[in-house]
Amino acid sequence: MLRRVLYIDLDKGESFVEERRDLFEEWLGGTGVATQLLLEECPAGTDPLSPEAPIIFSIGPLNALFPAMTKTVATFKSPLTGELGESYAGGRLAMAMRFAGHESIVIRGAADRPCYISIRDDDVQIKDARSIWGIPATVVGYILRDVETGVGRRSIIRIGPGGERLVKYAGVVVDTYRHFGRLGLGAAFGSKNLKAIVVSGTEDVEVPDSKRYREIYKRLYDTVVQTDVMEKYHDIGTPININVLNQLKGLPTRNFQESSFEGAEKISGEVLADDYLFRRVSCAHCPIGCIHIGMLKTSFSRDHEYEIRKISYDFELIYALGSNLGVSSPEGVLELIEACERQGIDAISTGVVLAWATEALERGLITPEDALSVNLQWNDVDEYLKAIDNIVKKQNEFYSALAEGVEAASERYGGREFAMALGKNEVPGYHTGPASIVGLTVGVRHSHLDNAGYSIDQRAAKKPLSPEEMVDAIIREDDSRGVYNSLVGCLFARAVYTTENVIEALGSVGIEKTEGELEELGRRIFDEKYRFKRREGFDLEAAPVPRRFYETVSAVGMIEPETIEEMMKIYRRRRGW
Ligand code: SF4
Repeated sequence: MLRRVLYIDLDKGESFVEERRDLFEEWLGGTGVATQLLLEECPAGTDPLSPEAPIIFSIGPLNALFPAMTKTVATFKSPLTGELGESYAGGRLAMAMRFAGHESIVIRGAADRPCYISIRDDDVQIKDARSIWGIPATVVGYILRDVETGVGRRSIIRIGPGGERLVKYAGVVVDTYRHFGRLGLGAAFGSKNLKAIVVSGTEDVEVPDSKRYREIYKRLYDTVVQTDVMEKYHDIGTPININVLNQLKGLPTRNFQESSFEGAEKISGEVLADDYLFRRVSCAHCPIGCIHIGMLKTSFSRDHEYEIRKISYDFELIYALGSNLGVSSPEGVLELIEACERQGIDAISTGVVLAWATEALERGLITPEDALSVNLQWNDVDEYLKAIDNIVKKQNEFYSALAEGVEAASERYGGREFAMALGKNEVPGYHTGPASIVGLTVGVRHSHLDNAGYSIDQRAAKKPLSPEEMVDAIIREDDSRGVYNSLVGCLFARAVYTTENVIEALGSVGIEKTEGELEELGRRIFDEKYRFKRREGFDLEAAPVPRRFYETVSAVGMIEPETIEEMMKIYRRRRGW
């Protein structure tokens, strides 16, 4: 393993490579290393949109070597929350970084005009991007594909107009259909005048013991393709959860006013797979192929030609832009997903923001003049499309507030009790019970993927768990995912990567670890992330829970505020805080 960090300075137009064995030996890779680089590079109190705020990408020691070890982690200071920004994406980026020989990339400073970075092995060029500034994220990929070399071992990541205009939940589109979606990495790119990064490499990867490597590789590959992950994620994909959660009364509907949706069946994974699925694709080095691409046919004009658009969909997007907006047509949901993709903004945050705005208009907290006569109402796709455009353009004070995120908008206009964010991050599609709420509040990036509180609730719905048991399960997941995310594997395959398998896979690439060492590493990584969060002002004691969570029945019945308070107390005690 090369253990190299590529530093790129946009102010000076320079780059250099440094070997950082110290970092990788202590923190393994991925999120462990990226968190340390963030602590090193980001001065306390830095404005997330200033040149001083760095952007860091890291891969781990198993990326591009084992099945489903496909992700790259980005760390940055989040423009949305003002504290830890951490986001993961699949696609080809991890493979391209591996072949280019860089396990981490640090971007410092800001360019004085639109640029993109081209990385080919150690050759780094900062190129003029004025001609592609303003172009949708979906189109930029096609343009750069033609002008940059390295096909097959290349990854192209880029922002859309949302990132350029500093929408605080703008994301970064990765290759085709993958994203660094959450917490505003796109706005961080935009603040640096950075439109895109193209990475390609020609290096070979050597493993110290190829016989051992081949044996463990085969075992893991066979497990991945033979376990139920294939069936669960390949066939219908994550949208299978629409019907499941709807039946459990855990599917947020019309801004969490209800937890089951009368239109759920129509936008379910089963209907999309039967009637709209065009094909499935995979991240590089993944045999699962969970990425579902839907086909949307729209006619140019009555009785004339059709335009065919290919749009990737999954559960979170269908919740955010479907049930949570009362949208019950698959075409409507796909239209809204595509609008977010074009603009390069996070679909979950966009859906939550629009749901709050719809309710705020209904309740008279905002006026039709504020909304520029966009008639925000449930299930009105055309009006929501206009609103998305207005948010990205920040057409007036109201839409500028929406571009700041739902909590900021509710601070300005009222309605905090139904502004569905935890830790300032718009919430994902689970009204499953208390473990989801506590998990999202305490999680390092306030994401359902931090500790999967929703699945702890689903277990509790079958066999009741005490508050202590739920908190312990959250802590176990928080810590163990610190290790898994340092390998930067796809979470869909995490059941395959048992501690025993991880130890063997690491051993085959020359990294010897014991179970105890990995456990301790997970705890330390979590602590380091909280060190950054606290340093930047996050206060767990003061993190508010919107009242709406207590007003709508969840998959385990009504949730009492006292239950959440008790679990938060147990959590702090268990953590020794
Ligand atoms: S399961 Fe899906 S998201 Fe995960 S690596 Fe495979 S294709 Fe990518």
